[in-house]
Amino acid sequence: MESHDLSVPRHRMVDHDLRRRSLRDERVLAAMAHVPREEFVPRWLRDQAYADQPLEIGDGQTISQPYMVAATLELARIGAGDRVLDVGTGSGYAAAVASLVASELYSIERIDGLARTAARRLQRLGYDVKVRVGDGSLGWPDAAPFDAIVAAAAGPVIPESWKAQLADGGRIVAPIGPRWEQQLVRVTKRGDEFETETLMEVRYVPLIGDQGYDN
Ligand code: SAH
Repeated sequence: MESHDLSVPRHRMVDHDLRRRSLRDERVLAAMAHVPREEFVPRWLRDQAYADQPLEIGDGQTISQPYMVAATLELARIGAGDRVLDVGTGSGYAAAVASLVASELYSIERIDGLARTAARRLQRLGYDVKVRVGDGSLGWPDAAPFDAIVAAAAGPVIPESWKAQLADGGRIVAPIGPRWEQQLVRVTKRGDEFETETLMEVRYVPLIGDQGYDN
């Protein structure tokens, strides 16, 4: 455990990088002010934990930028009673934040070592998140339907399995596209119809799997 308190830079991050950039969901902002991001990054990067940027977490992967974590949850319109699937657990940071906003949080990661470390960390810090190793491009059929599916890895299209595992009125917020020109997309299920909105340009690691890219 680190002895010095990082709640000052954490609150500065919420005001400066989130509120000032027009994020408005107070429940998401409160969760961002609560979760200690420094616990989710490698020890030698702790002093950069509240810079608004992705950081390396090993296995060629990154912890998402705070702004993108908060924006994704706000855009997914997550309510207090929602069941949510988080694709790409990584460090577990986004899952921890989402678990404070939703009712049930499922998080799936394809890299065994990352999933194990994240699951241990989430438990130690007291976040109620169900973590599984597997190909999240196929969703998590046993736990469906979900009110929201959020992803931190970009595939070529929105996987059909995610649409199939969405509750009526449910939302998917995910990056879609090739390496350098991805768009954050929101898909909303209304009965048998899916409404798709393109929200902003983003850059994420690739979604690797059956309905993502090849390894
Ligand atoms: N939300 C994470 C971000 C991790 S980066 C955080 O806050 O730390 C995205 C993660 O998606 C990587 O860990 C990568 O291994 C994982 N990933 C890529 N393809 C995947 C797939 N098909 N299923 C599950 N996880 C996947």
